[in-house]
Amino acid sequence: MDFLRPTTWAEALAAKADRPEAVPIQGGTDVMVELNFDRRRPEALLDLTRVAELREWEALPGYCRVGAGVPYATVIDELSGPLPGLAQASRTVGSPQIRNRGGVGGNLGAASPAGDSHPPLLAAGAVVEVESRDRGVRTVPAAEFYLGPKRSALEPDELIRAVRVPPATGPQYFSKVGTRNAMVIAVCSFAVALHPGERRVGTGIGSAGPTPLRALEAEDLLARELDWDAPLDPALARRFGELAARAAAPIDDVRGTAAYRVHAVGVLARRTLTWAWNDHREERAA
Ligand SMILES: Cc1cc2nc3c(=O)[nH]c(=O)nc-3n(C[C@H](O)[C@H](O)[C@H](O)COP(=O)(O)OP(=O)(O)OC[C@H]3O[C@@H](n4cnc5c(N)ncnc54)[C@H](O)[C@@H]3O)c2cc1C
Repeated sequence: MDFLRPTTWAEALAAKADRPEAVPIQGGTDVMVELNFDRRRPEALLDLTRVAELREWEALPGYCRVGAGVPYATVIDELSGPLPGLAQASRTVGSPQIRNRGGVGGNLGAASPAGDSHPPLLAAGAVVEVESRDRGVRTVPAAEFYLGPKRSALEPDELIRAVRVPPATGPQYFSKVGTRNAMVIAVCSFAVALHPGERRVGTGIGSAGPTPLRALEAEDLLARELDWDAPLDPALARRFGELAARAAAPIDDVRGTAAYRVHAVGVLARRTLTWAWNDHREERAA
C-alpha cells in the first residue's frame, strides 16, 4: 500500500488527481477501523494530516468556514457560540480520544446516515466546499451531498476542503437516541435550527433513512402555522413531531427497529422544537 503524504493543499489535490483511487485519511477514526477489520485494502492512502489549512476555521461574511480537518474538540471549544447545533452534536461523538482526532470532514467523507454532524448541518443550511485540481472549487448544499448509505456527491478526484455553516441566528438543538449514553452510534437523531429572521425552522434527521434527511413537510408546517410571537401551541408541536416521523425512512438493524426509530424521531422532533422555542421566548423576554 502506498502512503502519500502531501504537505500543502495544492499537493493534496494533485495527489488525488493523479491517484483517484487513493483513500484520504484525516483523523483515521473511520478509515483505520476499516483497515484493521480488513474491510478495505486500498492501493494508496492519502494522509491529509500535514495539510495545515485543513485544520483551521474562519468566520467569513455569512458563514463559518470549518476546515475538513478541524476536530470535534475544536468545534466544541471554539465554535459553540456561532454553531451551537454542530457543537452539541460534536459533544455526543465517541469519546474524548475520538473527538480529538475525528471531525466533520471525515464524517462527511464517510457519509454514514448515522453520522452525528449531518442533522445539524442540514438544519443550519450548510454547504460543503469540495475541490479538485482540474475543475477547481465546487459548493454542494448539505441536502444534496448525501446520495445513499456511505455515498456522497464527491467525485473520485475531489477532496473536501471545508464546510460552510451559517452562524446561528436563533436557538439550535441536537438530540440523539443511543443504546447507552456515550460511545454510541445513533439509533436515530434529530436537529432543529430556528431562523427567526426568515420565520423558518430547519431540520435534520440522522440514522433513520438511507441518508441523513430533512423533514420537509414538518418544516413547511411551521413556516405556515408557527406564530413567532406566541408560546408554542402543543398541538402544533405534536403535528410537527408526526410529520418529522413521517419523513423518516429507517430500516430494522441491530441498533433498533424501523418502527422504534419512526416513533423516536417524532419524539425527538417535538422535544427539540420545544427546547428551542423556550430559549427563543426567553431571549425575547430578556
Ligand atoms: C470508537 C468510535 C466511536 C465513534 N463514535 C461516533 C459517534 O458517536 N458519532 C459519529 O458520527 N461517528 C462516530 N465514529 C466515527 C468517526 O469517528 C466519525 O465519522 C469521524 O467524524 C470521522 O472523522 P475522521 O477525521 O477520523 O475521518 P477519517 O477516518 O480520516 O475518514 C473518514 C472518511 O472520510 C474520508 N475523508 C476524510 N477526509 C477527507 C477529505 N478532506 N476529503 C475527502 N474525503 C475525506 C476518508 O477517506 C474516509 O472515507 C466513531 C468511531 C470510533 C472508532
